[in-house]
Amino acid sequence: MALPPLKRVLIKLSGEVLMGNQQFGIDPAFVSELAHEIKAAKETGLEVCLVIGGGNIFRGMAGAAAGMDRAQADYMGMLATVMNALAMQNALEQIGVQTRVQSAVQMDAVCEPVIRRRAERHLEKGRVVIFAAGVGAPYFTTDSGAALRAAEMKCDALLKGTSVDGIYDSDPKKNSQAKRFDTVTYDQVLASNLKVMDASAVALCRDNGIPIVVFSIREKGNLARVLAGDGVRTIVQG
Ligand code: UDP
Repeated sequence: MALPPLKRVLIKLSGEVLMGNQQFGIDPAFVSELAHEIKAAKETGLEVCLVIGGGNIFRGMAGAAAGMDRAQADYMGMLATVMNALAMQNALEQIGVQTRVQSAVQMDAVCEPVIRRRAERHLEKGRVVIFAAGVGAPYFTTDSGAALRAAEMKCDALLKGTSVDGIYDSDPKKNSQAKRFDTVTYDQVLASNLKVMDASAVALCRDNGIPIVVFSIREKGNLARVLAGDGVRTIVQG
């Protein structure tokens, strides 16, 4: 299975990749490297939407595990994604890529609210649109936010750039025999509970026919390779 021709994509980056080699937070030098990769992708003529997680700063589940109210902790996680979006906006604009941040939690002094038709216009004008705060509700993650925005912006694929280079049949960190899938179906991912994205995100992509590509964004040049139909990755399709 190959990807369809790509004109518009949604790139989802896990928050943890913004840490670079740090244990926490944002490494501006690594964010700048990521920005260069995104710029290169855009220069191939693609329209690019971006969603960035918040796990490098705060995850609601971790807060809840430590005794916090889950919804309250999730709102903190959403705010973390806005910080990451602003860091990426800064890095992209420093290298001449025009961007707009749209947040699902309104923050007038900082960024725009999510307005689909306005986002369309930004893409037409060659801007990268960074969608922050996931779906804007607790009990969700930015994977679901990415699937939702990919569907409403009619993206041709959702590219999930993370720390692992694809989807495995078992955890490669625990099992040296773990095998990476080249391609896998949405239903296989859901039925085998393969740890790649939340079930809600996978189901939304399945129902809207959006292929998901899971790849490592930590390796330089990988985004370009994956977009060219090359490189190490797993494709999730119907
Ligand atoms: N979050 C949320 N609703 C959303 C998106 C995110 O409540 O629609 C919160 C949730 O607490 C999550 C945190 O924001 O743990 C950070 O997002 P995520 O865990 O998806 O980040 P990633 O793992 O991609 O870095």
